[in-house]
Amino acid sequence: MVSLASSSVYGNAYLVGWGSTNVLVDCGVPIRRLEKSLQEANVDPHALAGVFVSHEHGDHIRSMQLKTPFPAKYNVPVYSSGLFWAAQPSISSMPDNLCATLEHGSSVQAGSLQVAAFRKSHDAVAPLGFRLTAPDGTSVAVVTDLGEFTPEVLSGSRDCDYLIFESNHDRAMELNSGRPWSLIKRVMGKYGHLSNDEAGEALAALVTERTKGIMLAHLSLDCNSPSQALRTITPWLRRIQYQGALTVASASAATFLTDSVADH
Ligand SMILES: [Zn+2]
Ligand SMILES: [Zn+2]
Repeated sequence: MVSLASSSVYGNAYLVGWGSTNVLVDCGVPIRRLEKSLQEANVDPHALAGVFVSHEHGDHIRSMQLKTPFPAKYNVPVYSSGLFWAAQPSISSMPDNLCATLEHGSSVQAGSLQVAAFRKSHDAVAPLGFRLTAPDGTSVAVVTDLGEFTPEVLSGSRDCDYLIFESNHDRAMELNSGRPWSLIKRVMGKYGHLSNDEAGEALAALVTERTKGIMLAHLSLDCNSPSQALRTITPWLRRIQYQGALTVASASAATFLTDSVADH
């Protein structure tokens, strides 16, 4: 599991592989960067088993908003909700045969990975979180861009081996950011993004004895920092005696999610 980039500024793309199967969750980085990142990860884009798109915001689909979208260039099927496909004039150049529908509450097999989708609360038409499960049962949930921690996110991503989970902003930093009030309200609202505190509380409910690694993702560049996120989240995880690894996804560079225990 590699986060290729993780932020609203540099985009979001998460690579999950098992054996010869590799899939992307979101492809929101510029196509050249995406190609370069995949090359560095030794993944041939032609061989991707699918791209799973969480929602239509540009930081999650940037490489699809082209005359020749990334998935079309490499003949890779893209999975998202029917509403996503219906609402997408900016990616109208995607060939129909590569536009696959995956609704919340259902799952699909992509190579050796089973991918289940669940609903999230975010200001997009039908935002999805994903849980990817390997043949031996190893599972990872990828959940960014959510305004609140809902029962669907709980059941969709609880008891995973690995979690890539949003920890977007520090509440005080957001409130004192000097941003327009409408933007602050949007970010902190039910259809915006999770604060570090909210992420900590959610993770305390999602983590089980089985969980080996957590990656905090989609951190705000202006209203958060890796050290601030770790400072807020660590006490929540200590309370439930979490023993696994905790890392923070770089906003712009590749970050590996492993189970080697970091110092926290
Ligand atoms: Zn986003
Ligand atoms: Zn979004």
